[in-house]
Amino acid sequence: MEISLNAYGKINLGLDVVRKREDGYHEVKMIMQTVQLYDRLTFCDTKEGSIVIESNSDVLPATEDNIIYKACELVRSTYGITRGVKVSLDKRIPVAAGMAGGSTDAAAAFVAMNKLFDLGLTEGELMKLGVRIGADVPYCIMQGTALSEGIGEILTGIAPMPDCYIAIAKPPVSVSTKWVYQNLKASELERHPDIDGMVAALERGDLRGVTDRMENVLETVTIPEYPEIEQIKNIMIDKGAMNALMSGSGPTVFGVFEDKDMAQEAVCCLTDMKLVQQACVVMPYNRER
Ligand code: ATP
Repeated sequence: MEISLNAYGKINLGLDVVRKREDGYHEVKMIMQTVQLYDRLTFCDTKEGSIVIESNSDVLPATEDNIIYKACELVRSTYGITRGVKVSLDKRIPVAAGMAGGSTDAAAAFVAMNKLFDLGLTEGELMKLGVRIGADVPYCIMQGTALSEGIGEILTGIAPMPDCYIAIAKPPVSVSTKWVYQNLKASELERHPDIDGMVAALERGDLRGVTDRMENVLETVTIPEYPEIEQIKNIMIDKGAMNALMSGSGPTVFGVFEDKDMAQEAVCCLTDMKLVQQACVVMPYNRER
């Protein structure tokens, strides 16, 4: 049997860190939105009893260190599956970029393993398994627009982002999420995003109310180290974006546009200026339920 899936990337429309817990984890309050930029994964069950990963990316591990491997192995060991799985990954989401590229591949692996081996697990059960691999994995299983709290695992579905065009631009640097959180001074943050106000704006379908509240406290760590992020944000706004923000721990920047041509123009300008390694225009992705 063979199963092919799209694994969608996400942006954070708002990202707040509420506090650092005693166990070292950060408590967050974020608005997540999946976008129509996705990795394509194909899963086949095999008799060999091993997990084999092939990908078009030369920067990703094809071994046990790949998060897809970890997800498949967790399902196999939990449910006593002896057959193996062969995975082929067409990587399109930028890596180490703040778009949950790894978490979404792991989420796709949980969904595919459930179908491939006819386990009959509910989405909630898959999400509980997923959090053992990474805090963003349950959200990537859920997809769409969500308020994410706790360490990222407490999820509430909220009204979808109104239709718009999102310019995505990843500068040619990679950022480690761990490094960003280690350097965040959570108790000294001067500003906190208005996440509740953004939820209310989404409920009203008020795109301007959403973009006016776009803020990410992790910019206080990543931007001083990589000032080109600020430069990309400014160019997007000059080119007509309603607002622009760093996604997750960065370095990817997204700009929200009402007009598709303006979004495309911003991407062309950033590409011509050689500020980006990868850039495109996408729309929000909201799964049919
Ligand atoms: P987040 O937004 O959740 O912080 P990210 O987009 O910043 O994630 P990822 O693309 O998920 O970062 O990559 C983080 C690290 O995970 C990379 O260093 C990468 O080598 C490793 N990794 C392992 N497997 C994968 C995978 N299938 N796809 C992407 N990265 C992977």
